[in-house]
Amino acid sequence: MVLLGSLPASAQTAGKISSRTTEKTVGVRDFRSPHFLVHTDLEPEAARDLLKRLETMLKLIAAYWGRPPSGIIECWVVKDLQAWPPEMLQQFDPQGLAKIKEGAGVSVGQTLTRGNRFLAKARVYAVARGGVPQHEAVHGYAQQTFGRTGPQWYAEGMAEIGQYWQPGVKGVNAVEGVIRYLRSQPPKPLTKLIVNDQRIGGTWKDYAWWWSFCHFLDNNPNYSAAFRALGPQLLAGRDTGFRQVFGPRAKELEFEYRFFLAHLERGLRSDLCGWNWNKKFIPLRSSSSAITATVKAGSGWQPSSAILQEGAEYSYKTTGKWKVGKPPQSVSAAGTADGLGRLEGAVLTESETEYALSKPFDLGESGTFRSPASGNLYLRCKVPWTDLPDGAGKITVRIQLSSKKP
Ligand SMILES: [Zn+2]
Repeated sequence: MVLLGSLPASAQTAGKISSRTTEKTVGVRDFRSPHFLVHTDLEPEAARDLLKRLETMLKLIAAYWGRPPSGIIECWVVKDLQAWPPEMLQQFDPQGLAKIKEGAGVSVGQTLTRGNRFLAKARVYAVARGGVPQHEAVHGYAQQTFGRTGPQWYAEGMAEIGQYWQPGVKGVNAVEGVIRYLRSQPPKPLTKLIVNDQRIGGTWKDYAWWWSFCHFLDNNPNYSAAFRALGPQLLAGRDTGFRQVFGPRAKELEFEYRFFLAHLERGLRSDLCGWNWNKKFIPLRSSSSAITATVKAGSGWQPSSAILQEGAEYSYKTTGKWKVGKPPQSVSAAGTADGLGRLEGAVLTESETEYALSKPFDLGESGTFRSPASGNLYLRCKVPWTDLPDGAGKITVRIQLSSKKP
């Protein structure tokens, strides 16, 4: 369910349903599409528009979960309760009516017996605002098709992904209110995020956290395959725990999730920001040892393979050019006059419990620098994080020790 009542106004603007207030009474009518039966007081044009968006969402989520929808999903979508005759409201599920009065929604799952067969049936109730009907329809599809919605963190995180889903869009597209809220909060530890209760519901703040976590896992190349394989298992009711799948990589995952939250913005491409944890690093102990690294303009932080000592001085030289910006400009690792496309570095340190990244420092075409920490050197092409898809090409960097700690 979605508690839109408590969402800031700016967080309600997802998937615009026509909210024209032409106050003519059109009454409650039925609208049908291949997988939905919608009872609503929306104007016919707005209702048909909603059905189109529901079908698009359903197609995406059914392909994602690898199971065609079972049966017709029946929805009650309410713009104005006053427009509904009392005898119709009496047929509402009490939970559904209560949620609509709160300005929210719910999908009520039922098991029906037909002869000696059990059929799962969902009744979806939603206010005709924002992405509420799509969110609840994700639950409805899961209830009818799998007979369950999965653990709470997953059910609600995926329902939020469903309401934001647009074909072909890979970047973050949650509403501003949700992004602002997440950026204003300290990161939530994984132990608090993973709520395994087999139910749906929560506050919009809970949904913001679960959405961010599911979006991150679904898009980051280090975790997306395992996450996509985990989904159908959770919906099949197998008790494959999150810990079993991701436990051995929890430290890396937590670091990358925090990094995602720290850089969260509309358009951020988590799929371009995965950290390469498999790269082998070697210490640069003498001026005769050097490493050569390739850095791509269109990716996040990339491993250099050099282990640096805090305070030691290193020299570096780059070759090649990359393209940055819109329209694309071809520049060396010195970047443009205003610093766009400049090579930058940061040092990743590791303790027993966590990874930490130093403050980034500017590099350029060639020169020397002192390492701010002892750890692994990462490099990137300096562009706003949301502009990574505009980057193209790569440069080569050669780094060696120039003098040890003074
Ligand atoms: Zn929900």
